Amino acid sequence: MTLPVRNAMTVDVEDYFQVQAFAGCIDPADWDGLASRVEANVDCILEHFAVAGVSATFFTLGWIAERHPAMVRRIVAAGHELASHGYDHTRADSQTRDGFRADVRRTRGLLEDIGGVAVQGYRAATFSIGARNQWAFGVLEEEGFTYSSSVNPIRHDLYGMPEAPRTPFRPQGGTLWEFPMTTIRAFGRNWPCSGGGYFRLLPESLYRRGLASLNRREQRPGIFYFHPWEIDPGQPRVAGCGWKSRFRHYTNLSRMAERIDRLLGAFAWDRMDRAFADQLASGMPTGSMGFAALNPSCVTPPDPASDLSGWVERSETHLNH
Ligand SMILES: [Zn+2]
Repeated sequence: MTLPVRNAMTVDVEDYFQVQAFAGCIDPADWDGLASRVEANVDCILEHFAVAGVSATFFTLGWIAERHPAMVRRIVAAGHELASHGYDHTRADSQTRDGFRADVRRTRGLLEDIGGVAVQGYRAATFSIGARNQWAFGVLEEEGFTYSSSVNPIRHDLYGMPEAPRTPFRPQGGTLWEFPMTTIRAFGRNWPCSGGGYFRLLPESLYRRGLASLNRREQRPGIFYFHPWEIDPGQPRVAGCGWKSRFRHYTNLSRMAERIDRLLGAFAWDRMDRAFADQLASGMPTGSMGFAALNPSCVTPPDPASDLSGWVERSETHLNH
């Protein structure tokens, strides 16, 4: 009997006013004056995970950790993995190499000091590592990270690298692993299957079918992610942003917690460092696999169209962020 594939459950720890969708209408200089909700939201998530017996990885902003150190310590005490989401949600592709290095170094130091544990994982804000800033992988490796989960190999208006590998790869031929956000392959392209806004806005059966298909057909873990504010229907409404941002941010908040509970029960979940333990424990680098060197043989053949037709149709609107 084969054990079920353990998928990676992840939370991007940021407050409702720090998301990319609101970046144009909320000045970071005003963040400290806004009512914070993240600590109560994270405590709620910790309860749900405890009830389900699930361990997860919390990619946490340094800005948040500084202001909520006791919360960070509760995450660690509950047995979850602490990882970095950068300092203040600045996109990696808008930073210089030196600026990016300072950001990830500062945040890792903060998290390790506050959490009292080693931090080995990083996720760029808004999946902002792509073909134009692959140098970021080299910086992460030099700064002591062992993995990144910063690439989303899909087409999207805010991010995405559809030509990037769908499976774990070593971008620079070094020791750092990139674990790309999960996609399903169908009709010659990649479709998102990693949570976020898609999970909240589309029928949950579509996500489940996609993840089950990945586990069954490809025999490898998927990565799910969500944000603390997504389970918080009572959060203050941000004025002055466009309809698209508001739709992406506020739709179905009241249904998210129960959806996540059902998801926790329907699949096997674990921290990133355990779900991908085989890769992280493996020995010597296997050679360079930059995006330009992508070998088509590592792209899994499409699933039968009949199996995923609903997923594909409904995924045409890009709702993630
Ligand atoms: Zn984020």
